[in-house]
This record gives sequence, structure tokens and C-alpha cells, in this order.
Amino acid sequence: MSAAYLEKLNDRQRDAVEHGIGLPEGKIGGPLLIIAGAGSGKTNTLAHRVAHLIVNGADPRRILLMTFSRRAAAEMGRRVERICRQVLGERAGVMADALAWAGTFHGIGARLLRDYAPEIGIDPDFTIHDREDSADLMNIVRHELGFSKTESRFPTKGTCLAIYSRAVNSQQPLDEVLRTGFPWCASWEKQLRELYASYVDAKQAQNVLDYDDLLLYWAQMVGEPVIAGEIGGRFDHVLVDEYQDTNRLQAAILTALKPDGRGLTVVGDDAQSIYSFRAATVRNILDFPATFTPAADIITLERNYRSTQPILAAANGVIELARERFTKNLWTERQSAERPRLVTVRDEADQANYIVEQVLENREGGMRLKEQAVLFRTSHHSGTLEVELTRRNIPFVKFGGLKFLDSAHVKDLLAALRFAQNPRDRVAGFRLMQLLPGVGPQTAGRVLDAMAADPEPLTALAEIPAPPRAGDNWTAFIDMLQSVRTGKAGWPAEIGAARAWYEPHLHRIHEDAEVRKADLLQLEQIAAGYPSRERFLTELTLDPPDATSDQAGVPLLDEDYLILSTIHSAKGQEWKSVFMLNCVDGCIPSDLGVGSTAEIEEERRLLYVAMTRARDSLHLVTPQRFFTHGQNAAGDRHVYASRSRFIPATLLQFFECAAWPAVKPAVAGAREGRAMRVDVGARMRGMWR
Ligand code: ATP
Ligand code: MG
Repeated sequence: MSAAYLEKLNDRQRDAVEHGIGLPEGKIGGPLLIIAGAGSGKTNTLAHRVAHLIVNGADPRRILLMTFSRRAAAEMGRRVERICRQVLGERAGVMADALAWAGTFHGIGARLLRDYAPEIGIDPDFTIHDREDSADLMNIVRHELGFSKTESRFPTKGTCLAIYSRAVNSQQPLDEVLRTGFPWCASWEKQLRELYASYVDAKQAQNVLDYDDLLLYWAQMVGEPVIAGEIGGRFDHVLVDEYQDTNRLQAAILTALKPDGRGLTVVGDDAQSIYSFRAATVRNILDFPATFTPAADIITLERNYRSTQPILAAANGVIELARERFTKNLWTERQSAERPRLVTVRDEADQANYIVEQVLENREGGMRLKEQAVLFRTSHHSGTLEVELTRRNIPFVKFGGLKFLDSAHVKDLLAALRFAQNPRDRVAGFRLMQLLPGVGPQTAGRVLDAMAADPEPLTALAEIPAPPRAGDNWTAFIDMLQSVRTGKAGWPAEIGAARAWYEPHLHRIHEDAEVRKADLLQLEQIAAGYPSRERFLTELTLDPPDATSDQAGVPLLDEDYLILSTIHSAKGQEWKSVFMLNCVDGCIPSDLGVGSTAEIEEERRLLYVAMTRARDSLHLVTPQRFFTHGQNAAGDRHVYASRSRFIPATLLQFFECAAWPAVKPAVAGAREGRAMRVDVGARMRGMWR
């Protein structure tokens, strides 16, 4: 069998791809760690490895592939299929389609938990709470315990959830988490303990899992050796990309599935670790080799294939200033005379203009919009740019930014599906019942209590006398739940049934019901892309789809569009041209992330991740002032900004520094023949320098 695809790889990459292949029948290779810098071909190598395994007879249904987003998993699937097709021809399509176990840790966890639900004492109809639902439930419990009233200054629901989440993900005791991460809450330890115990009870009684539970339950499940053996036995190969961003639970899950490490491949780069706020730890990479006996093989890659030499030099410069780092500097053969640009602009409006002009110039030079991306530290940084792009009719897609998912009407419709699937989901039920005229929080609470006490909550609901003022709405509500639950209409038609029920309420509650209806129709279209209600609800919660400028009235011309993305969502990807917004102190490092050295170091790695996304051209833009977050036109507050501390003067040599617009015209002199006597504008500007 020809292996032409191997010839494109360098020797180290090929070693990684061929590792453990060609052993006698039935033998699987030992554990493998690929640790290497950005753009060195880690993901590419992983895709080739999966393809090579399949080409050499591995059953794709027995391959578990975990990446950090669904998009990354889908992209990996496509690459694998492409390679397989080259070698296997038509048979490949069937085989790569069967790569059914490619996804995120959380998504795969949810599927396995549903499969094994009866064996671990949970109901397979569990629903998943997103962060907001979790905070709502935490709040309900907090009120029930009376902490929010009797204890003044008790931590907010968000803080309570953050502490809980940190403790779960890092597997550290509460006092430790409080001491190291939330010292100002340490005096509430006793109450928090009680709160969390009740929160866990509430989730179980309501048959809901939160984001963290997916890992926690998965880890608990495979803590049972028989189940671990069974699930581990389903997969001959388990491969994980971006391993630097996994936490202890994830590492524990992998070792439980593959205690001897056979068939296990993990890939990562410690310099790109950017999820420690979710308790991810680079220790996972560093400890990986010694976890197994015999120890894992380690392959390092040092050649970067992505970026030009000047871009790489600047990125290396930034990361060299990091306190701690294990991977070495990268080198590349891609020479270029173009240094990355560090551009100073006045404010965010100029920043948006600058980027739009550059993007259009690139497009005129033949670079498609899709080959260009604008990155930012935090999602709201792109607001001004989005407005400008819309005004200039430039189509764009914002990764993970589907804002309408947060809007009340979309949440209502999703709650209907969720409550039908899991009638114990109190947050969903509470939300829905209060849509009905004549049903307030107290009635809803009473109904939910009665449902909770019954082994058949929906039957119980049907038997409860309708609240006096709810009338026909009550029956319609129950009919809808039953029809969705029994799946009579089939998926995705049942979402249409839920919408038909919801529409009268939509019209009653919202004046702009027609506009909102368009969102609901769009949600139905999105739903059609998922195989089942469970998968739709799960995946929408875990990994929201991308927002397009279509929603702002700008069509996605010829499927070509500019990419807007947070740095976190840009992980693993690359573009010919990359623009980084707001490269100023306060944005990167973020104001919120300057509490400790560890946090600042993580912000530095974020900038490194952003810079290493660029192949040919990189622009870091630094506005001299910007508006602080959360201030609207009425209360805008300017902040005068300085260049990010991660680019100190010693690194300026790596950049071409410029100001934009290049030279200010002498404004007053521009009027016919009248000479300027005093440049008041310049004086005013000078006051701040
Ligand atoms: P990141 O750390 O950002 O996730 P990575 O190490 O996963 O990066 P890839 O995305 O796999 O790197 O590869 C970066 C680029 O280099 C891709 O365009 C890929 O096609 C290219 N590439 C990788 N290996 C080779 C090779 N041997 N020859 C030519 N191009 C390569
Ligand atoms: Mg990668």
C-alpha cells in the first residue's frame, strides 16, 4: 500500500505517525507524547496518524479522538478522510464517516454518560445546564438556605459558582481553593460547603448536569474498574489534541481508560496553555511520560511550517520573556522581508477603520476574506469593528458568538425542548410556566414540587388541576410537552411543535415579536444540522455555533467572509493575515487577569497564541485610548492606554512600528488659503502625553 502522504512529513513527524504501527496482529503501541511549539504540525501529524492507523487496518469506530472544539474535530475528520481517500479510494468515505467518536471531552462525556446512565444511577434524559442556568440554580439554592438574606455580603451567585467549579475541576479541597483563589470569601467556608452540598442534591433531584459534572461524572464512572475496562475496551486508540489545556479530571479519565497507556497519544504545547482559569494544568503534559510503565515515548518538533521568519522571531521574542517554559524556540525556512506591524491608532474607531482598509487592500491583492482573521482578548472588544464591517457591507463570521442564544425568546424555546426531555429540570420548568398568563413564581414552584415528588413527573403535571387563571393555556402547555417528549413529530420537526406553542406567548410578551420570530426560525434551521434532540441540546450548550454577519443584514457573499474570534476560540487555527485588536495594557493583559504572576503569565501566552496564528502577515493594533467595558454612550469612560507590557522596548526591533493615519493634515490650514495660527487640536492632544 502506497504511503505517499508520509513523504510530506519530516522525520520526527513521521516517527510520530508510524509509532507502534506494524506490531504483530492485535498488539497496540505504547503511550506517545508529542510536545512541540505552535505551527510545528502537531495537529497535522495527529490527523496523519489517525489516517495511517485506519489505512493500516484500525477500525475507525474504535478510535476516540478528542479536540478542544467541535470545529476542530470536524476539521480533523475532513483531513483524515482526505488522506484515507487518496489511499483507499471509495472505501475511505465509509470509513471516515465512521470516525464517530471525534469531539470534545465534554461532548464525548455526555454521550458516554447517556449510554451508561442506568449503570451509574442517572437518568439518560438528563439535561445540561450552561453557566447561566447553573448560576440560576445556585441562586435558587442560595435563597432556599437563606444565605443571601441573613448573611450580608455573601458571595454572589457567579462567585459561588466560580469557586465550586474551580474546586471540582482542580480536585482541590475547598479551603485550598478559597485560600489560593478567593481569599476574600474564605470566611464563608462553612456556608459554602453547605451550599454546595445542597446544590449537588438539587442537580441530582432535577436530573441535570452542569458543565463540570460532565467531566466529574465521567471520571467517577471510569473510577469503577469494570466500566473503565468496558469503555476503554471500546477504543483501540485514544488521541488528544491540545493536551496542555486539559485539567486533572481529564488526565484521570485518560489513565482510567488506558491504564497501561497502550493506544494513547497526546499532543500539546506548554507555551500555549491558556485555560488555567478552568483549572487546566501543564502538569498533565509534563507528568504524562512517567504516568505509565514503560514510560511514554516523547517526540518533539522544532520546525515551524506556518509563519514567516519575522513573525516567528517576534512571537519567540514574546514567549522568551515568560517565566517558565519547556518547549524550545522554533525555526522556520519561510523567509520574508515583511516584519509584523505594530500600529498605533487614536481610538477604537480608527482601529476599526484601519483594519477594514487593510482587509480590503488584502482582498484586492487576491487574499480572500476567509484567509484573514481579527483576534481579540475578549468578545466585546470587537463591537466597534462589527459595526464598521456592517456599515461597509463586509461579511464576517464571529466564532462562537451566536448572541441570539442568550436572548429571552430563544432561551424560552430551548427551555421547552429541555423541559420536555427532562421534566425535572427546574430552571427550565420555572422559566416556562411563568410564560403562562396567571402563573407566577409561587404557583410554578408548587407545581414543580408536586412534579418532583412523583416518579412520573409529566403524568403528575397532567393530573394537577390547572391554575385558575391559566385556562386553556395550561392544557396547550401540557400537550406541547407530551408531544415533544414522545417525539411524535420526529426530529427536527418537534422543535416546530414547540415553536407553534410558543408563538402566541411571544406575541403577547414582546412588541418586536416578528423580529424575534426570525431568530426562532433560524434556530430551527440550526437544529436540522443535528441528529437528535439530545445531541442538539447538548452541543448547543457546550459549544455554541458561530454568529454570521447575516444576522446584521450583511449576506455571506460567495461563502467568503472575514473571521472574528477571541484568542481562545482561535486556538489551533491559522490565517494568512492576522490582526490583533487592542494590544494595550488592560486588554492584554486583561484588567481582570492581573491578580497574580500566574495570571499575567497566562495572558502572555495568550498573546503568543494570537501571534502564532499568522502565516504571512501580522498586525498588532494599539489604540491610544478606548472605552471601558460596560459603559454605554451615556456613561462612556475613556481610558488612556499604553502598549501591552508584553511588548517592551527591547522587542520593538522585531516590528515595523507605524502610526495610522500616517500624518495628520493641518486641519485649519486646509480651508482656502487661510493659514493656521494656533493648532488647538494638537495642544489638546498634547495635554495627555
Ligand atoms: P498549533 O500549535 O497552533 O496547534 P500545530 O503544531 O498543530 O499548531 P498544524 O496546524 O498541524 O500545527 O500545522 C501548521 C501548518 O504547517 C499547517 O498549515 C500544516 O499544513 C503545515 N505543515 C505541518 N507539517 C508540515 C510539513 N511536514 N510540510 C509542510 N507543511 C506542514
Ligand atoms: Mg494544533
